[in-house]
Amino acid sequence: MRQKVKDRYFKSYLSSKEIDDAVSAVAKRITADLKDENPIFLGILNGSFVFASDLIRKLDFPMHISFVKVASYIGTRSTGGVTELIGLNESLIGETVVIVEDIVDSGNTIEKIVKLLKDHGVKKIKIATLLLKPNAYKKDIKIDYVALEIPDDFVVGYGLDYDGWGRNIPSIYKIDD
Ligand code: 5GP
Ligand code: MG
Repeated sequence: MRQKVKDRYFKSYLSSKEIDDAVSAVAKRITADLKDENPIFLGILNGSFVFASDLIRKLDFPMHISFVKVASYIGTRSTGGVTELIGLNESLIGETVVIVEDIVDSGNTIEKIVKLLKDHGVKKIKIATLLLKPNAYKKDIKIDYVALEIPDDFVVGYGLDYDGWGRNIPSIYKIDD
């Protein structure tokens, strides 16, 4: 099926069933590794809200879930770009934190988040992402839990947007120009 999102066309790529199976598999691995650690799941807004919602309902152990935004802006001094986690309202000191991302592409974003979390005194950091583009990923940081690997095509749906549109599409579509 083909559909228009804003001004571009996208075609069906990953079905709801494929996504659900992949999220279940990741949930099993996370459970095996972290069920006794009372981890804090930290969803990165906006894109991860659908994945985070499905993922945590497949986890049957004690945990916290919280969401943050990553804000990047040019500092007022000559220090270059500054990155900040907005909305963090609980202490992460000594905690096991599972970053929940929608997609890891070059890895620039996840690298910044990991650095910020280390500054917050986190004990252990794990990374869970719905999608990984392995051909684009250039960092050494291990992405612990990857639900699905995809090629370097632009995708929307299941929380992922094109210029703010398409997050509500239940499955994943890829660009079809
Ligand atoms: P990175 O910093 O890893 O290069 O990029 C991560 C961010 O780029 C994601 O959080 C997401 O906002 C955006 N991004 C990368 N690839 C895609 C894609 O295929 N679709 C959408 N909607 N966003 C993407
Ligand atoms: Mg994102």
